[in-house]
Amino acid sequence: MSQEKKEKLIIFDTTLRDGEQCPGASMSVAEKVSVAQALDDMRIDVIEAGFPAASQEDLFAVQQVSKKIDHAVIAVLTRCTDGDIQASAAALKYAKKPRMHLFISTSKIHRQHKLNMTQSQVLDTAIQSVRRAKQFCHDIQFCFEDAFRTEYEFLTESINALVSEGVKIFNLPDTVGYASPLEYGALFQHVYNSNAYRDDIILSAHCHNDLGLAVANSLSAIKNGARQVECTINGIGERAGNTSLEEVVMNIKTRADLYPVEVQVDTKKILTTSRLVSQITHFPVPPNKAIVGINAFAHEAGIHQDGILKNPGTYEIIDPASVGWVSRRFVLGRHSGWAAIKARLTQLGYDLAGREQMQAIVQAFQDLVISKPIIEDSDLHHMMHNIYKK
Ligand SMILES: [Zn+2]
Repeated sequence: MSQEKKEKLIIFDTTLRDGEQCPGASMSVAEKVSVAQALDDMRIDVIEAGFPAASQEDLFAVQQVSKKIDHAVIAVLTRCTDGDIQASAAALKYAKKPRMHLFISTSKIHRQHKLNMTQSQVLDTAIQSVRRAKQFCHDIQFCFEDAFRTEYEFLTESINALVSEGVKIFNLPDTVGYASPLEYGALFQHVYNSNAYRDDIILSAHCHNDLGLAVANSLSAIKNGARQVECTINGIGERAGNTSLEEVVMNIKTRADLYPVEVQVDTKKILTTSRLVSQITHFPVPPNKAIVGINAFAHEAGIHQDGILKNPGTYEIIDPASVGWVSRRFVLGRHSGWAAIKARLTQLGYDLAGREQMQAIVQAFQDLVISKPIIEDSDLHHMMHNIYKK
């Protein structure tokens, strides 16, 4: 079997822009800087730090983030207007690796009802804006807003025109979260196989989770040629949220057999970054959230606990330590068996030798779970104390 060299997948985090834009998630400048530092420590490739034209505070926040970040590219969202380009240029003043992320709506419904512009007016505006932005910033990413609902021919025509202007990165978002994985993949396949595609351009996926498919759609885009994925920590974002960074990264890592790409993210920092964003935004992480939920590596069923103690591969597809968990969590409750009870008691320092003692412990444990569904360490200490007293 030939081992083809994997291509790099660029991780573009937009927690500070798309994530911060959702109701209730606004962050102070200092909080944005601390999230950006956590992302940079994780070796995220691109950090979208804000939308400078939105407010003076947003512009200032991007400047402060830029001063602190040495490795990641700093991107800023920018409409195709002179005012936005000026604000973005000012915001990027201190960025070591600045990127301007320009966007304009391209779908028919947006052209007609939002912009009141024809295709050629939209494309002309895009071209003029790229020329203007290039005076301030060498690295331009162009986003065709609502690309998923845009005519294929207009998309490829626009990419061709903007490649001639020196644009190398094209974002093809499913702005409204309407796509299915097969359809979103087909969009990338079409562009990838069209005359608009060249080896030196990068196609970027940006999905929303309105139908719960943001991660699936992004993975489908990767399968079909996307080499940059836009995502957020904990999947926060407008409406139902964005593509979850931790889920995309762990899909690429865990199912390396499926994807032709690799990521450079330090996955051990995923959990602490998730908790930081949750604390700052006051958005709790649901217990069953993949990778970062409190139950993501918790096992209560006795058969599962027993299997994992013998070989983690029996019921675990990811090593919890690889994403920052100190250990897997064995929840002791009514479904737990002797193996798990014994393992926890041993960790707590109890010497469990005799067979008789085992029966007494199991009996005491069964009595305990009648009144308490989840057994904490303090309950076990109390239980053992009572057994020894007898
Ligand atoms: Zn978005």
